[in-house]
Amino acid sequence: YKISMAQLQVLGELGRGQYGVVHKVFHEPTHVTMALKEIRLELSKRSLQQIIMELDVLHKARSPYIVDFYGAFFIESCVYYSMEYMDFGSLDRLYPAGIPEPVLRKITHSVVRGLQFLKDELRIIHRDVKPTNILVNKKGDVKLCDFGVSGELNQSLAKTHVGCQSYMAPERIICTSGPDGYTIQSDVWSLGLTIVEAASGRFPYETAGFANVFDQLDAIVNGDPPKLPIDKYSNSACDFVQQCLRKESASRPNYQNLLDHPWLQEAEALVGLMNGSGKTKHAWCPE
Ligand code: ATP
Ligand code: MG
Repeated sequence: YKISMAQLQVLGELGRGQYGVVHKVFHEPTHVTMALKEIRLELSKRSLQQIIMELDVLHKARSPYIVDFYGAFFIESCVYYSMEYMDFGSLDRLYPAGIPEPVLRKITHSVVRGLQFLKDELRIIHRDVKPTNILVNKKGDVKLCDFGVSGELNQSLAKTHVGCQSYMAPERIICTSGPDGYTIQSDVWSLGLTIVEAASGRFPYETAGFANVFDQLDAIVNGDPPKLPIDKYSNSACDFVQQCLRKESASRPNYQNLLDHPWLQEAEALVGLMNGSGKTKHAWCPE
């Protein structure tokens, strides 16, 4: 099924990012309300076609922890990407006062499950774990969006812009691993930072605290990693975050280690119950 602009009625704006706007739209043929993300890129028609083709694998990516993908197309130099509309918005809208531990734990559990799905089922690294890419709906589902499925798109986004808030792990800044310094462990670092941000209500390496962006990067590489406030969160939660934010990437836990951590045990046990049998590897619906 191919989605086109002519079938969509724009209902309003959901937010803006570095590359374009996300609109709430109504898809007339199916009566589904969707989120339509626009990405402005100065690319050749061939590259744009390549991106659309690479995004197509998302049709096969079904998980309760990943935002559903409905289709993509391009018009002139913009890629349009339609996905499940999440009616509670992104994590950054939830946390101004700091998220209480039970909620934070549920969110973290869903994010780890989502990242594990991306790695095991699609063989991809997310590359952009941060609060605005973690979406919530009123049913209480927590799902990931904006992950790096398309190599072509990853490359052009990397060339276009780097934001001022850096969720980059130390090894990415000093480029010690992989062709672009990015490994699966870098996502674990970004997860740790995201948890601290959601708990404290502010970005741990807030630019305002530094004279310039180099000082900020220096703090990530040479400073002590951020922590959860120990007076407000359990030892188990603090330990979980501390493991994600180990500066040495090789010593960070993998997703299974994180799911086995005592902090997530209760949430994991619930997934097991829902599957009807103890510990099942796949929580999502079988085909
Ligand atoms: P950046 O451009 O740095 O990645 P960003 O993630 O905020 O930042 P976008 O991905 O363009 O930028 O998203 C803009 C905003 O739109 C997000 O902050 C989020 O609140 C909202 N949004 C994105 N996708 C959805 C969706 N599927 N449902 C509801 N709201 C969404
Ligand atoms: Mg985003």
